[in-house]
Amino acid sequence: MKHDDCLFCKIIDGELPSAKVYEDDHVYAFMDISQVTTGHTLVIPKVHTRDIYETPADVASELFARIPKIAQAIKKVYNPIGLNLLNNNEILAGQTVFHLHIHIIPRYGEDDGFDLKWVTRNDEFTMEKLEEIAEKIKGAIE
Ligand code: 5GP
Ligand code: ZN
Repeated sequence: MKHDDCLFCKIIDGELPSAKVYEDDHVYAFMDISQVTTGHTLVIPKVHTRDIYETPADVASELFARIPKIAQAIKKVYNPIGLNLLNNNEILAGQTVFHLHIHIIPRYGEDDGFDLKWVTRNDEFTMEKLEEIAEKIKGAIE
């Protein structure tokens, strides 16, 4: 289960220190060492899985099932006015640690440190085009 050179596996095992928020048989949650905003938390499965592609459905279910209560706790303590969940996969998307993790990022204002540039291209993607893309993906779901 454990991956030898994995930072987060070492954190789960207590070989490396972390500021733990939550732990049970399936999931471990701790403070991100580089806080984007106060309360920025990482939630990880105890089973080593590299990214979303490699994650079995049961591991994903257990992981996501814990997120609402951790988010509620952050909300209770810090009263953010918003909250983002983020999961980066592969280097281009910003993944730096290759053990699946969900970032919980409480939001306190437009200039709170978190920025997600999001450019939409509605003209390019007609309904016809969307149907075509959906068909391709639908056909590939196993
Ligand atoms: P990623 O960029 O892969 O989506 O997120 C990895 C996160 O892990 C980063 O936000 C980074 O700050 C955090 N991180 C990296 N090393 C450590 C560490 O040793 N301890 C903790 N608590 N967080 C870490
Ligand atoms: Zn790992």
